[in-house]
Amino acid sequence: MRRKRNAKIIATLGPASSTQTAIESLFLAGADVFRLNFSHGGHDDHQARIAAIREVEKKLHRPIAVVADLQGPKLRVGDFQGGRVRIESGAAFRLDMSETLGTALRAPLIHPEVFAALSVGAELLLDDGRIRLRVERHGSDFAETTVLTGGELSNHKGLNVPNVILPISPLTAKDRRDLRFAVEMGADWIALSFVQRPEDVMEARRLIAEVEGGGRVRLLSKLEKPSAIEHLAEIVEYSDAVMVARGDLGVECPPETVPILQKRIVRACRLAGKPVVVATQMLESMIHSPSPTRAEASDVATAVYDGADAVMLSAETASGDFPVEAVAMMDRIIGTVEGDQHYRVIIEASRLEPERTTQDAISAAARQVAHTLGAAAIVTYTSSGSTTLRAARERPDPPILSVTADIEVARQMALVWGTHSVLAKDVRNFTEMVQKAMHFACTEGFAKVGDRVVITAGVPFGHSGTTNVLRVAEIDEHVGHHGAHKPHHSD
Ligand code: PGA
Ligand code: MN
Repeated sequence: MRRKRNAKIIATLGPASSTQTAIESLFLAGADVFRLNFSHGGHDDHQARIAAIREVEKKLHRPIAVVADLQGPKLRVGDFQGGRVRIESGAAFRLDMSETLGTALRAPLIHPEVFAALSVGAELLLDDGRIRLRVERHGSDFAETTVLTGGELSNHKGLNVPNVILPISPLTAKDRRDLRFAVEMGADWIALSFVQRPEDVMEARRLIAEVEGGGRVRLLSKLEKPSAIEHLAEIVEYSDAVMVARGDLGVECPPETVPILQKRIVRACRLAGKPVVVATQMLESMIHSPSPTRAEASDVATAVYDGADAVMLSAETASGDFPVEAVAMMDRIIGTVEGDQHYRVIIEASRLEPERTTQDAISAAARQVAHTLGAAAIVTYTSSGSTTLRAARERPDPPILSVTADIEVARQMALVWGTHSVLAKDVRNFTEMVQKAMHFACTEGFAKVGDRVVITAGVPFGHSGTTNVLRVAEIDEHVGHHGAHKPHHSD
């Protein structure tokens, strides 16, 4: 079973999409990757969902990636008398460490690190930016503010502090527990929320490495704070993938800057050859409606024209009324955009120079040769995923058929642009590599007799980052039978 598109779809699972049947329907509609959102639900819920995903994988013989998305240090105010209050524009409003219930004049905020990092004139945003406060005076345990934009405020609403680097780890105690749990239950990617600095990514990597089996897990950094943008290139370098997390980003930064930041982040990731995900509100209206707004369709299209690796659905699939329809709609938008004649022109124009490495020289040549010959596929042999990632960085016209003996890598590559991932036994020699490449190109539905495929690999086999071979093969009738491993046979 192959998909006929480059950009991938991530579907968040939740109450609307937890059964194996529901997950299978989402996969069949086009979801390539599933996201477990640790901001909601308990460990039992996530455990059950990942088990269901692995059953679907077994049944459909396709590797599926699971992203465990950690909540991160989402700051929240405490509770109010009567559950909610109305705070007036222009009024004074106090935040402090007292646990007493809040009123129209003050709210509990049990986050000393926020008070410590504030400065006079800083803005505090409450409830996704609906309410704005300006700091007039502050101490180690309080802040006195003026209400710039008032409104209704209820229990436990979120607080954002844009443009202030908070001296906090992006991993709370809950995140550390969730991270351990996610690695142990076999998540392929860990998503890190509210990354502020490159050190945050390094800290998360250390923590992951401490968990048994953590070495195989890849790290996806969610960019949702302006401070992260200031260190964009470094954060991309230290991460394995990046998400443009527009929900919080659009609260922390003015909305009109979000499209620009999205383009900058996508470009930085494409330059580095790291998968990049565009997320949040992509088909928001489909939470309650069977069809999207025109603006939403256009938003998905923009991400696809930009060459993003994946687009993501959140509440649309987790708790919406039309989860399957949302995925199917995204699939159709991507397919239609990628069929547009201008799509290839734009992708070609935005392609980036290869780095001066053997690996990139081979990957760039593979694209060139494949285009000249009109090859049916580029087959990449990979042990770590790097040959596949560098091939995808070239954004070639033909699909990339990624072959690996590592089940984790096979799953992780499901997130990568233009890549169809296959799990297969290691090849022993060059002849076998060519034979198997032709075989998979046929059995996976990419090529037929007479077609040519371009093969890249690193020889000797089994060492990562050594791509140094390019071979063109023409499919003949003798393409033998070298059975593909099914994803559930991990070897
Ligand atoms: P979240 O992340 O849904 O976990 O908040 C995505 C975003 O902020 O856009
Ligand atoms: Mn967020």
